[in-house]
Amino acid sequence: MCICVNCHYVDRCTTYHAVEHQHQQPHLTEFPDFEAIEPTINVNIRHQGDIIEMEWDVVGCQSFKQEMGKWARLRPGELVPT
Ligand code: SF4
Repeated sequence: MCICVNCHYVDRCTTYHAVEHQHQQPHLTEFPDFEAIEPTINVNIRHQGDIIEMEWDVVGCQSFKQEMGKWARLRPGELVPT
């Protein structure tokens, strides 16, 4: 689970923007202007037959500022990315 979904900066952050790109998700913003300090990204690689899936999760970040449900508020009714 990516900690970014509960982070104040999720809709401005260049790191989360890259994670969205990896997951082929629509971006919360096209022009992120916040640089996170030392984000730690966990990459899981899964094999499903011939298909290789990569899952990127931010698991730690010095810039993390807790704002519970931030992502969900920006995209009401949509499934929160895990
Ligand atoms: S936790 Fe870090 S990487 Fe994730 S949105 Fe917040 S500032 Fe960006």
